[in-house]
Amino acid sequence: MYVFKTVVGLTQHLAHRRALGETIGFAPTMGALHSGHLTLLQHAKVENSCSVCSIFVNPTQFNVASDLEKYPRLPEKDIELLLRQKTDILFLPSVEEVYPPDLPALPAIELGQLTTVMEGAYRPGHFDGVLQVMHRLLTLVRPDRLYMGQKDFQQFTIVQKMLEQLPLPTVLIPVETVREADGLAMSSRNMRLTPEQRTQASFIYKTLQWAKQQVGQQTPAAIEAQAKQQLESNGFQVDYFTLADAQTLQPIELFDSVEVVVACTAAWLGDVRLIDNLVVKGELR
Ligand code: AMP
Repeated sequence: MYVFKTVVGLTQHLAHRRALGETIGFAPTMGALHSGHLTLLQHAKVENSCSVCSIFVNPTQFNVASDLEKYPRLPEKDIELLLRQKTDILFLPSVEEVYPPDLPALPAIELGQLTTVMEGAYRPGHFDGVLQVMHRLLTLVRPDRLYMGQKDFQQFTIVQKMLEQLPLPTVLIPVETVREADGLAMSSRNMRLTPEQRTQASFIYKTLQWAKQQVGQQTPAAIEAQAKQQLESNGFQVDYFTLADAQTLQPIELFDSVEVVVACTAAWLGDVRLIDNLVVKGELR
């Protein structure tokens, strides 16, 4: 595996590979890698001639300083996992490499109402940071295929919208959420849960599945209210539990008029914030 810490090293190497006709599959991450990340990289490896992982804990997408400080960083273990995975390239840049002082401003990108709801409403500025880092990384890597997890549903929807407006050859491939045996979506943040919280955490997926069963039986508003209440009586502090149109991400009032509906939630256990989602009506295309 090639490990690059500088933009120059990475871009020169990729230019060489591209000139040889190689295709590039890219999975950007913030490290503390788990099987969810490794599944993205597995796709990148199988579907392209060159797989690229980036590990960069992007400071501009954290709206709370303590969350950035507490974010797990395990570079040695990550490198070991990537070697085992036979990932071709790891990009492991510093903040200064990603954000040099002369970096041009982000071009104007039209996102409509995609960023105002759910994570956008609860984490002000978060998606500005996500778009900034994704634009930078995509411009450097210029992948043929970009692999992102469905776990961050709003994130990949917004990045898809950005890609449609950029002169890049990249196709975004959303990858299904990888879960623990009890249904908890894998996340680097899970390692911060106490054993008791870890047991409680599986209730998020159970609630999402319950919501799916209720489609057609109750209104979206009634399902949302009960789901929230169920989570709260199981020890969570809920930011939101929303039934949203999977295309526009706007909350729905009725199921009938919407082809694909996704239940999205964010909830706290102590000081750990967990997010998850499940398509409850229709199928993602
Ligand atoms: P992160 O390191 O949390 O920024 O995640 C990097 C990428 O991995 C994003 O595209 C995430 O959506 C994806 N990802 C994180 N957790 C999972 C999971 N459990 N299953 C599938 N993809 C995931």
